[in-house]
Amino acid sequence: MSERFFPDGMPPPMADATTLPWWQAAAEHRLVVQRCTACEHTRHPPAPVCPQCRSAESDWLPVAGRGEVYTYTIVHRPIAAGQELPYIIAVIALEDAGGVRMISNLVGLDPDELEIGLAVELVWEDMSAELAIPRFRPVQR
Ligand code: ZN
Repeated sequence: MSERFFPDGMPPPMADATTLPWWQAAAEHRLVVQRCTACEHTRHPPAPVCPQCRSAESDWLPVAGRGEVYTYTIVHRPIAAGQELPYIIAVIALEDAGGVRMISNLVGLDPDELEIGLAVELVWEDMSAELAIPRFRPVQR
């Protein structure tokens, strides 16, 4: 079960051969990051070649989806009809992903509560049966 944060008119992301395994994991509500099997460097978004050692071999590291706000912006202009404003785009430093930072949306908080270093956790948004998108909210205490 997931919450909806964005309207149906929101443009869906596009998958390709490199990113498809990531989207398939997301559809099952599993957050993963790509990990080079040669040097163990983790990266996101998925890429066909390791930026550290140029190896094309990789696997998928499951991560818990907890982290902190590295930086953010507050958006006051919609990109889809029916979108609630303002919304927050943030760079999330994931705590167990080998240094990976993920760009996503922060939900479930007032922009006035937002600060660098805010502890956040993953919440899935099911856009359809085949498409789930990771969003982040303040850690629920
Ligand atoms: Zn590598």
